Amino acid sequence: MRYLNLRNRIAFTYIAVTALLIAALFSLIYFVIFNTVYNHLDDDLDAETQEVYASIVVLDNTIIFANPNEWAEREHGQIEVNPTFIEIVDTAGNIIKRTPNLRQGSLYFNPKKKSSKSYYDTLLSGAPIRQLQVPIQNPTGKILAHLIIAIPLQESAIVLKNLRQTLLIGYPIVLIVLFLISRFIAGRSIAPINAVISTAEKITKENLNERIALPQNKDEIYTLSQTVNDLLDRLKDVVLREKQFTADASHELRTPLSVIKGTLEVLIRKPREREQYVEKIHSVLSEVDRMSLLVDQLLEFARFESGKTKPTIVEVDLNTLIEDSFQRLHYTSSEKNIVLRMLAADKYFVKADVSMTNIILENIISNAIKYSFEDQSVEVTINNVAGKTSCSISDHGSGIPEDQIGKIFDRFYRVDESRTSQIAGKGIGLAIVKRLAEIQHLEISVQSTPAVGTTFTIIFP
Ligand code: ADP
Repeated sequence: MRYLNLRNRIAFTYIAVTALLIAALFSLIYFVIFNTVYNHLDDDLDAETQEVYASIVVLDNTIIFANPNEWAEREHGQIEVNPTFIEIVDTAGNIIKRTPNLRQGSLYFNPKKKSSKSYYDTLLSGAPIRQLQVPIQNPTGKILAHLIIAIPLQESAIVLKNLRQTLLIGYPIVLIVLFLISRFIAGRSIAPINAVISTAEKITKENLNERIALPQNKDEIYTLSQTVNDLLDRLKDVVLREKQFTADASHELRTPLSVIKGTLEVLIRKPREREQYVEKIHSVLSEVDRMSLLVDQLLEFARFESGKTKPTIVEVDLNTLIEDSFQRLHYTSSEKNIVLRMLAADKYFVKADVSMTNIILENIISNAIKYSFEDQSVEVTINNVAGKTSCSISDHGSGIPEDQIGKIFDRFYRVDESRTSQIAGKGIGLAIVKRLAEIQHLEISVQSTPAVGTTFTIIFP
């Protein structure tokens, strides 16, 4: 069964059940007809017995045949059409009287069934007959003789035999026809699945545009096709994003590389003053720094994006995490004369992964410093909102236009490139933040007013 294809499996299961049902139905039909035929025969025998009884008188120990003509009736004389054979035997089985149509043959007498009425299928001169044997008793109940009446079974036997043969031959034929029909129907019903398979086979990483044609009926196959199509849409998105990512990353790396190459080529063209060398080498070094920062971010991003990193959620002291970030960012903030301030009425503990939360806080706080005006402050406020710990990082700076707030978490996205180009960054930081927040189930929201400031809010579960 396991090696059959779906179409044959459906057909076989159906046919196995049907075979049992039809066998039961055919047996029932045969049984009912068999019983009807025999009841009919036995009724005839009973009626004939009544007639014979009516024509005899039993006196003490003798039987008197009151109506001898009855024995000469046509049906007892002939053997061709509906004959009735009658024989009366004494208790030892010796024949007392018999109808002429018996000729040389004699009816079967069962000496054991003396007192009761009994029916038998026997043979008379080789032909099948149905016979009835009843005792003839005198008024005191003594058995004087036995009356045996028989009628031919041939016609009924032929009817039953024909019926049996028809049913036996019909049975496999019906099953074969039903099998073929159910196989055909099963084949038609799973044809759309084959269409799904052949389309799916055509789909490769390079050819993600192929879609399964939706069937007309909105059935399970429709849902399956739709689900596969949706999956393909998502796959295509991922593949496109991967390609875009590689292209963007190469582009971002190519720019500093060409700057470095250009600077070095200019330097080597002719001998220069020492100061010129120092100045150019500094600019090359700063490009190298930008590149190495980008490569670090890309590696970090790839590590989290691949989904292999699992968070280690523990109880973390949020106040301390923020203070640590402040310390690490102290140099950058003091360059712009920005004060980092934490506003927390209490100690707050959250469930999070320490290193992932550190990366998130550092990215958001360093952005707040980067995009803040000089001589301002960046405030980190922790409080409880609806039973959850909320941490907001607010700056006073360039802000983000409303229509771009949704995009800043995309890879390589930077608001207004001309404005931000002075500020170090490649638009990777918030993409990493988004991924890390997803991994830990943190909610991050952004409110911003251009030229006033921005607030990032992190809600811990
Ligand atoms: P970048 O390395 O460019 O800072 P991010 O992914 O960290 O990349 O941020 C994406 C963009 O979102 C930034 O280029 C900037 O335009 C905008 N942005 C992020 N944080 C702020 C903020 N605090 N104020 C204004 N703009 C911001």
